[in-house]
Amino acid sequence: MTKTLDSRIPEGPVAEKWTNYKAHQRLVNPKNKLKLDVIVVGTGLAGASAAASLGEMGFNVLNFCIQDSPRRAHSIAAQGGINAAKNYQNDGDSVYRLFYDTVKGGDYRAREANVYRLAEVSNDIIDQCVAQGVPFAREYGGMLANRSFGGAQVSRTFYAKGQTGQQLLLGAYSSLSAQIQLVRLSSILVMRWRM
Ligand SMILES: Cc1cc2nc3c(=O)[nH]c(=O)nc-3n(C[C@H](O)[C@H](O)[C@H](O)COP(=O)(O)OP(=O)(O)OC[C@H]3O[C@@H](n4cnc5c(N)ncnc54)[C@H](O)[C@@H]3O)c2cc1C
Repeated sequence: MTKTLDSRIPEGPVAEKWTNYKAHQRLVNPKNKLKLDVIVVGTGLAGASAAASLGEMGFNVLNFCIQDSPRRAHSIAAQGGINAAKNYQNDGDSVYRLFYDTVKGGDYRAREANVYRLAEVSNDIIDQCVAQGVPFAREYGGMLANRSFGGAQVSRTFYAKGQTGQQLLLGAYSSLSAQIQLVRLSSILVMRWRM
């Protein structure tokens, strides 16, 4: 028996799929947001930032993790940095080039619409991380520094020494903690696995 995974990627040209989908989604009335429970599994960079953002938006969030602390997620291992198409170096970077390099770097096996969306919001992600206090490397003039990473022909990697993942995780965790204080994110449930 074969199973087909349905990733539910919206219809349309690759660069418009998620933008169109978001534009036509039904919105939740602000007064109803607290009536909705959102379950987020995992407190890595994806889970922690999703939980913190959903909490900030006013939803009631339950965030689960299996480590002793939410800060111990595997994202801590990421060292090289995080890519964004800011084109600070004026070396010809663009959302399309970041999309193309990421699909190619993933041996053409990634879901292209999702990669395009990631490239599209990459600049906002850096802004969000800076707002969370992530200590990215900076030039002497104060601008965020970039380096070339992973064989790319442009310098688009934002980094914090060799600890980018750890620093990003601390940033996401501090946003999560702020929401816990506001009791929007009702609890982080830490379930310890004892083998
Ligand atoms: C050594 C290394 C270096 C890397 N370097 C880079 C880099 O330089 N730049 C870059 O962009 N990317 C890098 N990556 C990739 C990047 O780190 C990951 O893609 C990213 O961190 C994944 O984040 P995540 O939140 O999806 O997953 P994770 O950080 O793995 O978080 C998933 C969380 O979900 C939890 N979980 C899973 N199942 C359950 C369950 N059933 N119940 C509760 N919790 C559950 C896990 O315990 C974990 O905490 C690197 C990866 C590695 C391993």
